[in-house]
Amino acid sequence: MPEATTSEWPWPEAPEPLPSPVVDNHCHLDHRIRGGLLIDVDDAIARAAAVGVTRIVQVGCDVEGSRWAERTAAEHPSIVAAVALHPNEAPDLAEAGTLDAALEEIETLARSEHVRAIGETGLDYFRTGPEGRDAQHHSFRRHIRMAHRHDRTLVIQDRDAHDDVLRLLDDEGVPPRTVLHCFSGDAAFARECLERGAYLSFAGTVTFKNAEPLREALAVTPLERILVETDAPFLTPMPHRGKPNASFLVPHTVRFIADFLGVSLVELCRHVDASTDRAFGGSWEPAT
Ligand SMILES: [Zn+2]
Repeated sequence: MPEATTSEWPWPEAPEPLPSPVVDNHCHLDHRIRGGLLIDVDDAIARAAAVGVTRIVQVGCDVEGSRWAERTAAEHPSIVAAVALHPNEAPDLAEAGTLDAALEEIETLARSEHVRAIGETGLDYFRTGPEGRDAQHHSFRRHIRMAHRHDRTLVIQDRDAHDDVLRLLDDEGVPPRTVLHCFSGDAAFARECLERGAYLSFAGTVTFKNAEPLREALAVTPLERILVETDAPFLTPMPHRGKPNASFLVPHTVRFIADFLGVSLVELCRHVDASTDRAFGGSWEPAT
């Protein structure tokens, strides 16, 4: 039975199509409102492809969401999956005594050919207090090891935890393909991540008025390391900030970055597309 959806949501008008395709490398298509998906998967793919966002990485945050991501990637060639337990899930699972069992489930999914990445994992000190940190550290270490073991990309969620993210990464060894999702640091932290070979993924937040330190980080990031994402349905770029996000709105972020860096739009798109392929272990089939 097809899932109920609410694609009739009053989405904003589509932006002008990009001159060359790009990938939305971080999306949560399984987000639900009123019991249904916020946007039907085929509709999300079609709207995005129409403006040049031809491929998507669907990201799981718990066991059920990771299964959904793997299955959705298996059904849609233009989507690949990332699987993990979100750092904010780890303390609850640890308290229930089910964290290690859940990690085993993620590791099983990680073996699927449709799964390119382990994420989003990492540390989130914004929503989890000091009492939950041990569980987050344990979970993050286990995810880093999984990325190494299965040769998958590591997708990191880092919220107010820059120093500990670097410390644990250095401790476990930085996987050869590592992405800082929704990069939120300043220029100094960007340099630390770049030195470790990581890719920095910029979301709609880079377009926000108060995001000056983030734009300073963007300014020191080579074109070869810049990725773009929605984190849909969150972090909607200007001029639609505050409304639900979807992959077809990525062109707003890409245009903003091209303007800010003073590079041509087509050049930026080509870099983002090629860098996403390198970051996620090779290309996959675009939607048309
Ligand atoms: Zn996310």
